[in-house]
Amino acid sequence: LVSWKSTTLTSWGRAQAEVVAARPERIGGVLDVLAAPLEGGLLAYGAGRSYGDAALNGGGHQVLTGRLDRLLAFDPDSGQVVAEAGVTFDDLRRVFLPRGFVPPVIPGTGFATLGGAVANDVHGKNHDHAGSFGNHLDWIDLALPNGAAVRCSATELPELFEATIGGIGLTGIILQMAFRLVRVPSGELMVREERMPDLDAFLATFAHARRHSTFSVGWIDAMARGRSLGRGIIETAEWAPLPSRRWRERAPHRVPCNFPAMALNPLSVAAFNQLYWHRVPAGGREREVPADRFFHPLDKLHDWNRIYGKHGFHQFQCVLPDGTAEQGLTALLTEIGNSRAASFLAVLKTLGSAGLGALSFPQRGYTLALDFPHRRHVWELLSRLEAITLDHGGRIYLAKDSALSPQGFARMYPRLEEFRNLLDQIDPDQRMTSSMARRLGLREVRS
Ligand SMILES: Cc1cc2nc3c(=O)[nH]c(=O)nc-3n(C[C@H](O)[C@H](O)[C@H](O)COP(=O)(O)OP(=O)(O)OC[C@H]3O[C@@H](n4cnc5c(N)ncnc54)[C@H](O)[C@@H]3O)c2cc1C
Repeated sequence: LVSWKSTTLTSWGRAQAEVVAARPERIGGVLDVLAAPLEGGLLAYGAGRSYGDAALNGGGHQVLTGRLDRLLAFDPDSGQVVAEAGVTFDDLRRVFLPRGFVPPVIPGTGFATLGGAVANDVHGKNHDHAGSFGNHLDWIDLALPNGAAVRCSATELPELFEATIGGIGLTGIILQMAFRLVRVPSGELMVREERMPDLDAFLATFAHARRHSTFSVGWIDAMARGRSLGRGIIETAEWAPLPSRRWRERAPHRVPCNFPAMALNPLSVAAFNQLYWHRVPAGGREREVPADRFFHPLDKLHDWNRIYGKHGFHQFQCVLPDGTAEQGLTALLTEIGNSRAASFLAVLKTLGSAGLGALSFPQRGYTLALDFPHRRHVWELLSRLEAITLDHGGRIYLAKDSALSPQGFARMYPRLEEFRNLLDQIDPDQRMTSSMARRLGLREVRS
């Protein structure tokens, strides 16, 4: 029997929703959930690491997948692992890194679940070479909105497979999946860091790094303006060829309370950015770094989103095609710099080819991600950034979004109609829904 509880769920940017939630212990419990009438519709909630309202279904029902966390099978010859949807990247690291295996795609937090990784078709710091998570799936077992459990893959129900990858939970509840881990020679990476004085230098270095380095990621000082616009630090990395020393796992720290709103202001952010820039010597540096610190640098500071205070924050992440990236990034960074609203830790990465999913975010180009504390004029700023993204043929990442307009969404995701048609077939009564789907008019608006 499923037990339901009224509760408040929160996203990583601290948006909140009042929902009725169940936390099934087993896959059978998910099927029981779908057998019942569900007022306000249903949506899965993984670890709540998406920033906006993708994982929230305000006023409706939610299935929390945290207890569906079993590793079911592993074949060391092929690297294939079968796992339930609530398994996290951190779980995989603890079990498989000592055995010399890692997931082919690793997002920037180890707390994300596999279900969330499929539903947002997440990317890592190696997208040019590895694509996104959906590219590595052998199959997905899915509970459809009508309660039937089906297996889908590139050959079985391929349209359903492509809609579920990046489908923000709207095709049903992902139960379990099979995908391939890759072998690595050690648990550490050799990381090279270099200062980039401006955007031109950054893009030229990235153009080389995306071809020659397995991993690359940049940090941009979004407060810099004028001749320093786009200055930052680029990191490139390779797996260290041999295990070196045993690293002690760092004990996590926790941000104990919400910071006051005034703590984050243009002065404190500019001072932090200045220190961060000087962290790397002018001639660059190379060091060996354990995998968790390279892939998940923020995970040892639990609840770091409290730094933004109780009103939370918004993350803006877009991708701009190679051809318009220089112009588009200049326009975005100028707008952001003038607003004086940006926070620290803006991230620049490259993406390779488009994802498999109808709503997959990746397309070839440059992706910029940064946080804005929730303040009075933030909606106007986000709307201007949406317009610049559209003008340059780019798109906004749904995993991070809280502000995209329905019109902007339809223009950015050309396979939207295909996705809607599939939902009309498998979910005519719109049992699966979310706060994001309603905000974006995902089921209602027809062109
Ligand atoms: C610090 C940080 C760094 C990040 N770095 C990256 C990055 O480098 N690359 C990247 O791509 N993303 C990144 N993200 C975003 C994050 O990877 C995605 O938002 C991911 O989807 C979060 O997984 P989750 O388990 O928390 O899912 P949630 O946030 O709980 O849910 C996300 C979506 O998945 C759906 N979902 C979850 N489980 C299931 C299921 N079992 N069945 C069906 N649908 C399901 C939800 O309905 C929702 O639509 C980062 C987030 C943070 C906080």
